[in-house]
Amino acid sequence: MDLHRRHADTLFNDIFLPAETLQIRREVRQFADDVVRPVARQLNTTPESRDSFPHALFKAMAAAGLYRIPFGADVGGRGLEFPTLATVTLLEELAYYAPSLASALFDGQAILVGQTLNRAGDFLRKKYLPQLVRGEFIGSFATSEPEASTDLSPHNMQTVATKTEGGWLISGTKRWITNSVAADYIAVLCRTGERQTFLFADMKAPGIQVSDPDRKMGNYAQLTADVRFDRVFVADDHVIGTENGGLRAALGALMLGRMGIGAIGVAMAQAAFDFSAGYMSRRKVFGRPIAAFQHWQFRFADHATAIELARNLYQKAALIYDKTGNAETEAAMAKVVGSELAVNVARDAIQACGAYGFVQSLGGSGEQFPLESIYRDAKIGEIYEGANEVQRWVVARNIFGRDITG
Ligand SMILES: Cc1cc2nc3c(=O)[nH]c(=O)nc-3n(C[C@H](O)[C@H](O)[C@H](O)COP(=O)(O)OP(=O)(O)OC[C@H]3O[C@@H](n4cnc5c(N)ncnc54)[C@H](O)[C@@H]3O)c2cc1C
Repeated sequence: MDLHRRHADTLFNDIFLPAETLQIRREVRQFADDVVRPVARQLNTTPESRDSFPHALFKAMAAAGLYRIPFGADVGGRGLEFPTLATVTLLEELAYYAPSLASALFDGQAILVGQTLNRAGDFLRKKYLPQLVRGEFIGSFATSEPEASTDLSPHNMQTVATKTEGGWLISGTKRWITNSVAADYIAVLCRTGERQTFLFADMKAPGIQVSDPDRKMGNYAQLTADVRFDRVFVADDHVIGTENGGLRAALGALMLGRMGIGAIGVAMAQAAFDFSAGYMSRRKVFGRPIAAFQHWQFRFADHATAIELARNLYQKAALIYDKTGNAETEAAMAKVVGSELAVNVARDAIQACGAYGFVQSLGGSGEQFPLESIYRDAKIGEIYEGANEVQRWVVARNIFGRDITG
């Protein structure tokens, strides 16, 4: 069974968006309709394996110029006036069909790795960002470890970089690293004494080993794996930002990523909403469509309102960032609201569709249904790129002050 009418086109008014962003939405929607939609089901339901990295889609996204959207013209980007707003709009359009693709191939590649390089200093920015924009390498961003992820304090972190002639030697293990099974380069946050340094390493360097991909509840097209470093050499000129300034560099990219997770959440909520709204209008119980019951009318009116608010919030966070260079609080709010919305709407959409919400495909007819994968994919949004409790902590800091909240 296919997705149905796109209610966002009639329920949501893009009145505040600049013409530039509206054009990006049209362009990416066309790409998503033509290229992502035909393979979305396969991406959303095929469990992880070492060879399931979506190389063809990665190349198609690069060929369509999607990786140019977040960046300035001097590195081969589009040079948009509101690049962050365009980027999160793009994420919503891709994630409407394939959330894990949007998360891995755009949030991971273009935001976490790309924006890290964008602020890495002139040498790394000019050397690597034009290549990333052209889709010439796959990158990973590694802060998490088996024993440390939310809490990235130096004393918690076991991946260590020690000084050597002309550079650094990295030893330790990073966990959950998106795209690492296919990556050419990796940004690695390392403990360096009492502080941390972010290093850009070549995945072909001797001493790096990548495990098989993790088998997860959802986001199958987002391949994650352990990356083990055994005295891996990184030259001095591959320090991202400044020595001992690594945490700040990593958190800067993650702040942008969080707006993206908000946008991906909105996309999942919208896809679940659109499918179930169509289904409820047709499916009859007690002689009436399910949508004729006021219970469901009210619930879906509430969901439509929540989607409207969440979309406005991620757009506003991005616009604030484009205008001021900082939107930490709004990014945290957008992430919490978008990710929780996706889980809530997907759960209710499944309830309204009954067994047809719960099933992936029918054994008898082969008919296929989309809600179970949206529900599985939605949950991780509440956890990764900073658990939602931590995002609430960020917001609380701005209410009560660091002295009280810590
Ligand atoms: C699909 C996927 C992709 C990922 N990609 C990457 C990647 O590319 N690079 C990377 O470095 N990492 C990546 N991660 C790791 C991800 O960012 C972490 O899983 C996340 O940061 C949470 O860390 P943790 O799982 O170790 O949980 P923990 O840090 O152990 O936290 C567990 C739970 O404790 C609670 N908690 C934590 N702090 C607080 C607090 N202050 N107050 C109240 N409750 C709290 C939260 O509910 C949290 O979910 C990925 C994970 C997944 C599943």
